[in-house]
Amino acid sequence: MTTTAAEATSVESLVGDLLSQQWLIDLFTELTERQTRSVAATGRLREVDASTHVFWPFHSPQFPLVVTEAHGSRITDLDGNDYIDCHLGFGAQALHGHSPEPVVEFVKEQLGATTGNGYCHPVEAQLVDLLHEFVPHVEKFAFLNSGTDATAAAIRLARAHTGRRMVAKFEGSLHGVHDLGMHNTAFWYHGHPTQPFPGETPEGGIERQSALTGVPVADPRDLLVLPNDPVRALELIERHKHELACVLTEAASSSFPFVEHTVPLLKAVSEACRRARVPFVLDEVLTGFRYGPGGAAAHFGIEADLYCYGKVISGLGIPLSAVGGRAALLDHTQTSGLPLTDIGRKTCVQTTHAGNHLALSASYASLRLLHEQRDTYYTETRAKVAMVQQRLADFRSRTAIPLRLVGFGDFIGSFGFLEKESYDDYRSFAGSVNPIAFFLLTLMLRKRGFYTLSLPMLFTGGAHSTEDLEALVTAVTDSALELDKHGFPFILPGAGQQ
Ligand code: PMP
Repeated sequence: MTTTAAEATSVESLVGDLLSQQWLIDLFTELTERQTRSVAATGRLREVDASTHVFWPFHSPQFPLVVTEAHGSRITDLDGNDYIDCHLGFGAQALHGHSPEPVVEFVKEQLGATTGNGYCHPVEAQLVDLLHEFVPHVEKFAFLNSGTDATAAAIRLARAHTGRRMVAKFEGSLHGVHDLGMHNTAFWYHGHPTQPFPGETPEGGIERQSALTGVPVADPRDLLVLPNDPVRALELIERHKHELACVLTEAASSSFPFVEHTVPLLKAVSEACRRARVPFVLDEVLTGFRYGPGGAAAHFGIEADLYCYGKVISGLGIPLSAVGGRAALLDHTQTSGLPLTDIGRKTCVQTTHAGNHLALSASYASLRLLHEQRDTYYTETRAKVAMVQQRLADFRSRTAIPLRLVGFGDFIGSFGFLEKESYDDYRSFAGSVNPIAFFLLTLMLRKRGFYTLSLPMLFTGGAHSTEDLEALVTAVTDSALELDKHGFPFILPGAGQQ
């Protein structure tokens, strides 16, 4: 089902009503006044720089900040305001917070002393040895710059290995901004609330849909979009097993964050792929090192041929990602030894800056710090998030306001208002999200001293103390009470019907 015209109109008129309410005008005025320098600086930047994260399409953060200092869980903006940071560099700084001393010191030792990139450096072997402690299921790695690079490289390796071209991905999965990744991606790129979801193909798949202008809709020989339905997905994989180069999956989808449904599906797909001899790729960009030392693969027992890592594999925000897995696949991008014999027989995923020395050093120092704490890190993080969840449950039963932290693992979630604890269908979850609440909570948290980018996301880990998270719960529950006082509709008309 799609949102009806009447429902869409009532959502539009709701937004119109809200924007004329005095408390909201006061909130916008307060935020504008407290960050006048940031507003002026980002206004100037907008003229000349499109790539800054605060100008990223689909995020559209309001009242963008210019951040001048960051330590642990704290950031300071150009106007001198301090915030507890829940964004943490899209989660990349969630392990230890900003600028952890041992990582900064280790990288400083390399600064000005290495070649930078384009040469072998001893830290590469140190990092690989350390990574093997975390993910012994990975035989071989290739280092790259971004999560997007890692999933693109996985696709290329799988295609090189099988000689086939079709890639299967699940509707709603997010694998970065390369062309195939930008199809049928998270619902906030397309689908609820602005566009209806695409239809079904005659064989029971999902119509391919590009989320971006400039990305042509993929050829059916290149992309198969699977529904989040085990029976149909397995049938489609079986039907196309001789054409499939790989099945690309997200270990725990941020746009369908209910592992009680997604993990059994992934396990079944992983087994089906093994039987069909189709490479199975597990994208652990969000989940690697976060669901426990071995990521979602080890935590849930999901076996893959290739794994993609990004986000916290890097340190200090210096770009680093990796694709790893069975040596037989990684070997396709490694020279046979004689340049001329590689021609026509090898692929390539390496680039000029990939695996640069500062990035490898920051990664090594950051993961070494995690390794030292690993007995306590995961139990402490879990306890902190459990405290947040308990306080929200108490709040819900006290007030009947359906405020939840929806997410997975111990480290990522988003605050929002949802009727149900869990949704068994991606589309009904997407259709239940209240995007106006996301927008308002983000700004109401900002007013209370908590920074999130454009959604009330909580990336957490060792970065936040229990006190930080206690204060955050107070801020978010106070915001919910304020919304309630102003008659805010927590559940939108037509919710759950997409
Ligand atoms: N895979 C997943 C699961 C992600 O969440 C993301 C980023 N949100 C990516 C890939 C792409 O990573 P990057 O932004 O570093 O290219």
